[in-house]
Amino acid sequence: MKCDYKACAEKATTKGYVYGHEKGSEQSDRLIPVNACDKHKHVGGFFEAVDERKRANRE
Ligand SMILES: [Zn+2]
Repeated sequence: MKCDYKACAEKATTKGYVYGHEKGSEQSDRLIPVNACDKHKHVGGFFEAVDERKRANRE
């Protein structure tokens, strides 16, 4: 899986969402699922998806 950020060729390590307008969509702004690399997961506007199974193991 590859980072979904434009012009980025890094390997994605995290799944998450960005809030915005999906290209080619008639819908208004919404949360769009994206894959992000280590660098891009820290970019503003990216929300890391919480892995429910990992969280359950920690608690
Ligand atoms: Zn990236």
